[in-house]
Amino acid sequence: MEQALIEGRKALPECLPNPPVGCVLVRADSIISRGYTNAPGKHHAEAMALSQVEGELSDVTAFVTLEPCSFHGRTPSCALTLVERKIGAVYVALLDSDPRNLGKGIDILKAAGIPVMVGLMSEEAKQDLSPYLLHLSHN
Ligand SMILES: [Zn+2]
Repeated sequence: MEQALIEGRKALPECLPNPPVGCVLVRADSIISRGYTNAPGKHHAEAMALSQVEGELSDVTAFVTLEPCSFHGRTPSCALTLVERKIGAVYVALLDSDPRNLGKGIDILKAAGIPVMVGLMSEEAKQDLSPYLLHLSHN
C-alpha cells in the first residue's frame, strides 16, 4: 500500500478534479503493475494498472488507495473492471466519500466473491486524498 500511495502522488495535478489515487498489482510478493489517476476521461489508477497486464488475475492482489469507483462516469467502473479481470483480492486504504460511491464499489467486489480489506494505511491515504475528495468531483 505504501507503493500505491507513492503512485497516487504522481497523479497530481493532471488528474484534477478527480482524486489522485494510486494502485499497484502484486503477484507472489512482487509488484507486476502500477497505476495512478490520469487526466479526466482517461484511465483511473486501477484501469491504468490493469491495462499493463494480460489475462485473468486470480492470483493477483490489488492495493488501491481509494475505493474503486462503482459507477460509469466518463470512464467505466473500476470495481466492475476488477471483477471482470477476476482479481484475487483487493486492499483499499480509504472509502470514497463521493455519494455515488460510498461503499458501493466495495459491495460490487464482495458480491463477486472477491475478498476486500478496507483500512490499510488509511491515515496516510487520508492525508494525501482528503483535500481532493469532494462530492460529485470524481468521474
Ligand atoms: Zn475508477
